[in-house]
Amino acid sequence: MMLTAVRCLSAVGLLLAGIGAPAASAAMAPARCDHVAVGLQVLGSGGPIPLPGRASAGYLLWVGGKARVLIDAGGGVFLRFGEAGASLADLDAVLITHLHTDHVADLVALLKSGYFTDRNRALSIFGPRGNGRFPGMREFVDAHFDADRGSYRYLRGFNAGEEGLFRLDVFEVGSRQGADATRQVSNGVQMRAVAVAHGPVPSLGFRLDVTDADHQYAIALSGDQNLRTTAFTSLAEGVDLLVMPMAIGQTSTSVQRSLHATPRDIGLAAEQAKAARLVVSHFMPRSLAAPESNRVALAEGYHGEIVEARDLLCLPLRPISSEHGSDLPREPQSDVQ
Ligand SMILES: [Zn+2]
Repeated sequence: MMLTAVRCLSAVGLLLAGIGAPAASAAMAPARCDHVAVGLQVLGSGGPIPLPGRASAGYLLWVGGKARVLIDAGGGVFLRFGEAGASLADLDAVLITHLHTDHVADLVALLKSGYFTDRNRALSIFGPRGNGRFPGMREFVDAHFDADRGSYRYLRGFNAGEEGLFRLDVFEVGSRQGADATRQVSNGVQMRAVAVAHGPVPSLGFRLDVTDADHQYAIALSGDQNLRTTAFTSLAEGVDLLVMPMAIGQTSTSVQRSLHATPRDIGLAAEQAKAARLVVSHFMPRSLAAPESNRVALAEGYHGEIVEARDLLCLPLRPISSEHGSDLPREPQSDVQ
């Protein structure tokens, strides 16, 4: 098992020196994540601009050979989901960081694919609560599947689990700063979510703690954010993998910085969180343009291993010490509705 994992990693070239290099070509055999105990697979390492080899945002948590949790579903993730060998029937939860198109545009297509499986159990979807400018997760889903007004009203069976479709249980996580939400989202997988600052856009960061018979594993994935709030960095303390969007370069405008974190700030946050590995992802041409200055800026703050995300990259998780796992404070489920 370990040999397989190591081969997957080395085949795609992990180190940050690769930033700016051409993305993995479509012809490259996809790394499989179904042979590792627990793994995170990148489905999309790109952003809102089409790039060769990079779908928009999406990640899969594999546990015991099954894809159990999908995080984000931007354009192209539908294709990558199939290339990864994942099945909609195995999914226990979908976590959406925010409702920008490059994080959610393929969600409906993926859900519909479940019609062609034998799935009949409900699927949980977690996403942000809305504000005046953005709908919440529930309104977003209703806009597609409402029986009378939904744009995909032919799929109204998602509302009650009828007509060959499975029920969608939609939960919204609040954007109150400092609020926290905790849920078990799959067998042995605990999710915690916090709001992160992404300009006017309700956006979330997630931590997933996985417990199997022998070990504990932990990852944290952030939606787009400017890192001007600290709740997510605290939440990510001691994780094995910290996945951060890197949508801007170190040389960026104030408008860009109001929405996104610079490489320097990402490195500092990863160091503060004591993450064992930092995965930078969600690239745009502007964040791929100056790889050397990005590398320097990231490494100024962070001294651990830095991984450049590539589509279909499988990252087997390494166990964390119980110091960072079992003693997690158990927050009340106060901000999930
Ligand atoms: Zn965004």
